[in-house]
Amino acid sequence: MSDLGQTPCGGSNRRHFLRAAAAGGAATIGIQGLASAQEPVAAGKAVPTATLGRTGEKVTILGMGTSWTLSPSFVQAAIASGVRYIDTSETYENARVEKILGEVLDRTKLRKDVYLVTKNASFRRTMGTGAAKMFQDHLDASLERLKTDHVDCYYLHGIAGNQVELLADPGVKAAFESLKKQGKTRFFGLSCHDARLPEIIEAAVDCGWIDQIMFKYNFRDVGGVDRHDDLQRAIDKAAKANLGLIAMKTQGGAINFPDKMADLQAKGFKKEVAAVKSVWLDGRIQVAVSEMTTRSDLRENVAASQDKALTARDQRLLEEYRRRTAHLYCHGCGHLCETTAKGVPVATVLRYLRYYEVYGKRQEARALYQALPPQARDLAAADLAAAEDACPHGLPVAELVQRADARMGDRVLGRASGV
Ligand code: SF4
Repeated sequence: MSDLGQTPCGGSNRRHFLRAAAAGGAATIGIQGLASAQEPVAAGKAVPTATLGRTGEKVTILGMGTSWTLSPSFVQAAIASGVRYIDTSETYENARVEKILGEVLDRTKLRKDVYLVTKNASFRRTMGTGAAKMFQDHLDASLERLKTDHVDCYYLHGIAGNQVELLADPGVKAAFESLKKQGKTRFFGLSCHDARLPEIIEAAVDCGWIDQIMFKYNFRDVGGVDRHDDLQRAIDKAAKANLGLIAMKTQGGAINFPDKMADLQAKGFKKEVAAVKSVWLDGRIQVAVSEMTTRSDLRENVAASQDKALTARDQRLLEEYRRRTAHLYCHGCGHLCETTAKGVPVATVLRYLRYYEVYGKRQEARALYQALPPQARDLAAADLAAAEDACPHGLPVAELVQRADARMGDRVLGRASGV
């Protein structure tokens, strides 16, 4: 098997992307043990691999996200097409996704051929003295559903900025290390799309026991008016420490705004493909986890992984798309607006609104929104006008937050376009 050699290179800005894009090209590799129970949707070349940081594991650069109503046949199609990195969670579809994955991996005997990640979201509610038992019980339940005796990596799911101290908590570290000693997980990780993402990445490096991190990262994070320099510095630090780095939310709203795209599409530009390629071209990122919900998504992503080159023209058009839609998409940079919003976690609320309006996950979005503490939903006390003034992208923050509350709080309004 050859490796794409996506070793950390420490680049930190848009030039980094452009240089990598100019280099272009992709190696192809053979994947062993492909026992396809179903025809691959992308026959021929395999999905390339990269070394996942200090885990030393060779993993496919395309990962399958599973936070939707997954069918067994789709899982089989993805595996048969060469996707060998699977990301799931105990929370997805109330654990039904873990059961479906377990059923497919058991039936096809392909468990040993995939790198399997699952996540613990219960730490958000249950910590303190019961932490070790909670992690043990929840991982045991996940393993039973997944019909396996171990996962490759076990995550803290969606760690928030106000939970960052957990990474330095000896009790949490000991609980995870016990799981490793028992052979129930090989590595540890976390996922995050909190506004304090840079701080969390740095804390993950400093704590010394996190092997890989999955975080929101897309073409909007490498330029624009706020430039996200602190995020770029944190990624550099994690790459230097050789942590495995996995990008999620790689589309950056590429699916949301068709009216801003018509003329670009007429030129044959495929923004979804360009978006995922732009992530791979950042040499610090080893895997892009993608929520592929159709065979066509799967086919396009597999083909894109096999030819990662992003032409200068497509880079230009992606940048044009980013520029046209920057004021419509919440970039998650809550550190810029939340101090003025006085208690309302704007980035989180607008993310839940995206789950509701764009991804169609209404029930989940409502549950997440309603689980926020009361002060986070106290719009009367918040200064949303000040938050709007602080947003460098020009989002209509007050209108969006109020719409989020109307949709995901107690009242329900009609339909509107996504954030
Ligand atoms: S509203 Fe604006 S400043 Fe606030 S998180 Fe979203 S994009 Fe960033």
